[in-house]
Parts: sequence; structure tokens; C-alpha cells
Amino acid sequence: MCLHDHDASTEVPPTVPSRRHVLSVAGVLAGVAGSGLAGAGTASAAMRTQDARARYRGEPPVPDPIVIDGGTLVDPLTGDVVEDGVVVLARGRVLASGTRDATRRAVRSVQGSARTISATGRWVLPGLVDAHVHVNALADAAAVLRAGATTVRSGSSNFYQDVALRPLATWAPGRAPRMRAAGVFVSPDLGDTVLADPDLAPLAGLRGGVRSASDLRYLTRVNRSRGVDVVKTRANPRAGLAEQDPTELVYDREQIAAVVSAAGPADVLCHAYSERGIDGAVRAGVRSIEHGVYVGESTLEQMRRRGTYFTPTMAAVTGLSGSPDPVLAARGREYTPVLQAAVRAAHERGVTVVAGTDSFGTDVDPIGTEFRLLVEAGLPHLAALRAATTNAARLLRWSDRVGRLRQGFQADVVVADADPLVDATALEQLSVVVAQGAVVREAA
Ligand SMILES: [Zn+2]
Repeated sequence: MCLHDHDASTEVPPTVPSRRHVLSVAGVLAGVAGSGLAGAGTASAAMRTQDARARYRGEPPVPDPIVIDGGTLVDPLTGDVVEDGVVVLARGRVLASGTRDATRRAVRSVQGSARTISATGRWVLPGLVDAHVHVNALADAAAVLRAGATTVRSGSSNFYQDVALRPLATWAPGRAPRMRAAGVFVSPDLGDTVLADPDLAPLAGLRGGVRSASDLRYLTRVNRSRGVDVVKTRANPRAGLAEQDPTELVYDREQIAAVVSAAGPADVLCHAYSERGIDGAVRAGVRSIEHGVYVGESTLEQMRRRGTYFTPTMAAVTGLSGSPDPVLAARGREYTPVLQAAVRAAHERGVTVVAGTDSFGTDVDPIGTEFRLLVEAGLPHLAALRAATTNAARLLRWSDRVGRLRQGFQADVVVADADPLVDATALEQLSVVVAQGAVVREAA
């Protein structure tokens, strides 16, 4: 188990949501309250949203009902499929999903007000989760959504844009994915992110950067005061910069442990490449390892025992191979087979693998590309699908609302033209994406 595991069971959405219920849980669903996370950071985020609601004196819009008709429904948790199935979305939730018979009453209840989308001959799945993405602008958020990721975990943002994007899922359905926000990267050199908050100024003049336990705790606490859900830190330098060696150590186990303890109830995700870096992060108690190329067998065993998640970000790592920079291209070619083997070993050992693209800006790798790369690394199709749905939902502590099309879950749906249980490319080009009950993509 994770060293600070809490679960979300107290916040299961009502199965037949009344308007009041929808409104009262809307903040939670937007991620602002965190599911089961009680602590200064998340509590202040919840309070902020309540303040905003009180100041604004209005209520979020309620999306019109949608009926997605006639597709093959795929449940990533069980692998079960329902042919000629129907999904009914109303008030931002799944009102019903299943066979025609099982959904007949729900369909009748929205007749007249619902828009119908035909999915005949296509595959209908829950909205996908990208567990590592950098979203700093509305255009980035739109690109992520259109690529099929209706829920994301931020891998950090420059100026707390992820924290500000988070409530949009409630207030402007279809404008931004449901978000676990990370705020500012806990890293030695803050660069311009020191301008994200005046409280960061004391860290701007440090000679060696943010490295002492007390400075790491301070930076983490500033993030929490800004209402982050998770904290992003690192063990190693970046792979995407030719002048950096991603196998050098940036933070050791003690330094990462200082971040984990200051994070309190907020989960920590840790960028790590080298065996030593990954091992230190795992033993320091992080929730997930990001990238993780050189993870060793004994560390994988630790991860299994502790319930540490593995986000290999294959799209980012393999993508280096196509870089015009020869150092990066060589790095990509060297890392790709090593990471593929690590993903297979993790899966075989029972470490939970999660899909994340590490996309930046509007040049977004579809989360469906990560799905394909996980299959190409050797995961069974269903396991790769879980990496982008139920496993990622569990990592984000949103298993009770994201990753399946169960009654009461979020109205997040994608429609694919091919069967993802046999075709690894099926999720790269989606024909329909519905996020928070709003259609954000619909191929002609
Ligand atoms: Zn990243």
C-alpha cells in the first residue's frame, strides 16, 4: 500500500442525482475538494470554490442530455462488452448504460430534450485519463480534451494555471479536462516559476537552488497553500534536454522524503530515470514514478509491495527518437527498448501501470497513442486500456466517478471506430469525445 493511502468511498456520487446533489458534489467532481483528501492544501481549495460560488452568486450550467446509441460498450474493469448498447448522459452524469432493454426507461426520461449520437458499428468507452500532462493554457486544455483525455493529472504548471483550470470542468463543461492539479514543479531551479507566487521570492536567491530539506518543505507548502491536489518532484534531470544527463541524481531519498512529508495528504509524483533515483523515490513514499526507464527488479518488487504506480510516459520517451537533436534521438533509441522491457516487467510483477503522455502545450500526443505504445511494449490490450482508464482513475483516487460508464459516473465518453481490445491504434483517432456532458469532438 501507499504510505498515505486514503480512499474516496465517502464521496460516491448519488446514483440518481437530484439537481441539488449535482450542485453540491460539483466542486468535488471538479477535483477541487479532492476525494477523501483532508488537509490544508485540499481543504483550502474546497473553500476557495465555495467562496467563488458565493461571490458569483450563480450556479454552474447543467449540460443537456445525450443518448449514445447502438455502439459496442466496453467496460475496462471487467473487459465485458455489450453489443448494440446505449449510454444515457444527463446532468453531467451517466444516467444509464447497457443493453437497449436495461436503458429503455432512462432513454424515455430524456426524450424530447436529448441529443442522440449514433455509435452503430463503433466502440463506446469511458473518457480516457492522461495521468501526466502539462496544461498551461485554455488551448492546451482543449487539445487534451479533443485527443480523448477527459480527466488528467497535471505534471506541474508554470504559474498555477492547472489550479485555475480545475474548476472549469464544473463552470464551463467541455473547456478543460477534470484535473488533479500539481502547481509548481518542486525542483532546484525554479526559473520563471518563481514569479508564480510572491511567497516563492525567498527561493529565488538560493545559491544551489532548492535543495535543503527546509527549502523543499517550504516550496511544497507554498504549493499546498495554492490548493494543489498532488505534488510533482524529481530524482533526476530531464531526458528532453541534450545538455542534461537524466541518470545524474538531483534529489536523493532524504530530500524526496522531505517533500512527501510536507505534501501531507497530497500525493507525490516523481520524475525519475536512474535505478538509484527511482529506488530513492519509491522508498521515500511517492505515489507514482514518472518515466522510470532504468527501474530495477528489486525496485519493481518494492513498488508492488508499496502499491507505487508506474507512469512510463512512453509517448514522450519514444518520441525522443524523432528529435532533430542527435543526442536526444540517440537517447530515445537507447531508452525505448529498456522502457518497453520495464513496462512488461512491471505488469508481470503486478505493479500498476498507468497511461500518461507528458504532453506540453497544444502539440498533444493523444492518450490513445500511449495506449498503442503500451500494447507495442507487450501489455495485453485490456491491460493497456485499464492503464488509460481504471488504473489511472485509481491513481487519481477517482475510481468512483471516472474510468467506467456506470450509473452516476461522470458524463465522459469516447467513441472509437475500431475495437480497442484487438486494435492498438483504435484510440488514436476518436470519432466522438464527450467531456462533462459536452460534445468536444464529433467527426463528420
Ligand atoms: Zn512531465
